[in-house]
Formats: sequence, C-alpha cells, structure tokens
Amino acid sequence: MEIKQFKVGDTVEMKKPHPCGSKLWKVLRTGADVRIECLGCKHSVMISRVKFEKSMKRVVEPGNG
Ligand SMILES: [Zn+2]
Repeated sequence: MEIKQFKVGDTVEMKKPHPCGSKLWKVLRTGADVRIECLGCKHSVMISRVKFEKSMKRVVEPGNG
C-alpha cells in the first residue's frame, strides 16, 4: 500500500470535488489535523490527518517548503 506524503505548500488532488467543482487544494498546515484551502473558491477547512489521507488522491504539485 502506498504511503501518502505531503507537506505545507503542496497542491493536492482530492478524490471528491468540492461543491465549487474544484478537486485541487493547497496544504496550509499539517499535524494531527490538516488545514487545506480549496483552490477553486479559497474556502479553507480543517480535517483530521486520517480523514485527509483517505480523501486525498495525490500530490499534484509539490510546494517549495
Ligand atoms: Zn471550493
């Protein structure tokens, strides 16, 4: 099974699209909870790391740190 690695600044693709239609999110903060911002509507949400890893598909574009 693939281990998902991500860091602050990464652009990630989620399995399900946000209501605004975008599947791309930017990682703003990591930890026990992960804060991500929708690139479509700029809405940010905080979800648990476990839930994030389940709903995230892949890193589309790595951030620069
Ligand atoms: Zn959105």
